[in-house]
Amino acid sequence: MMSEAAAIDGNDVLIVVDAQNDFCPGGALAVPRGDEVVSIVNRLAARFRNVVLTQDWHPRGHFSFASSHPGKKKYEAVAAPYGPQVLWPDHCVQGTPGAAFHRALQIPHAALVLRKGMDRAIDSYSAFYENDRKTPTGLIGYLRERGLTRIFLAGLALDFCVRYSAEDARREGFAVFVVEDACRGIDVDGSVAATRASLARLGVALVSALTTV
Ligand SMILES: [Zn+2]
Repeated sequence: MMSEAAAIDGNDVLIVVDAQNDFCPGGALAVPRGDEVVSIVNRLAARFRNVVLTQDWHPRGHFSFASSHPGKKKYEAVAAPYGPQVLWPDHCVQGTPGAAFHRALQIPHAALVLRKGMDRAIDSYSAFYENDRKTPTGLIGYLRERGLTRIFLAGLALDFCVRYSAEDARREGFAVFVVEDACRGIDVDGSVAATRASLARLGVALVSALTTV
């Protein structure tokens, strides 16, 4: 669906999700063609006065790492106190090169870098709430205080961190647009199709970077 996104103005914010080395080809949790979003996001961000970057930022031995669960395999789900948790390869460990932003990411005017997934016991896909869906990151308060009412999301991965961020933002009452061609997905067990269905149900518009001018 190409929805009317209207001209970008001062009440809009672009949230660039996890444009980090580990999510790009060659990284620990590479999203296929994940690096392709970088140049698109750079151009897109230039049109926004307000830009926030998120950065997955895990301590070593994080609960979401398969290596923390002897006998379990990567991409398998385990029961966490907050529900099912997919197990990932070790990725985005705090301070490592894999956790750094892709070197071609050029958004010098980004006002905030929001780090997430820092609690060893809880994963955080969403930029707004950790995976218990209760622990806030503080980003909602930041956006409200700044008077930002329309959220545009881009980055990695479409079917996890972008999806969860979009869903939470919508539930919080923001107008939400996912810039689909500025995202790439992992697609675990049909998760891309599930993402499209969920976003449609919640009234999140999928837009293109080309038409969001
Ligand atoms: Zn992570």
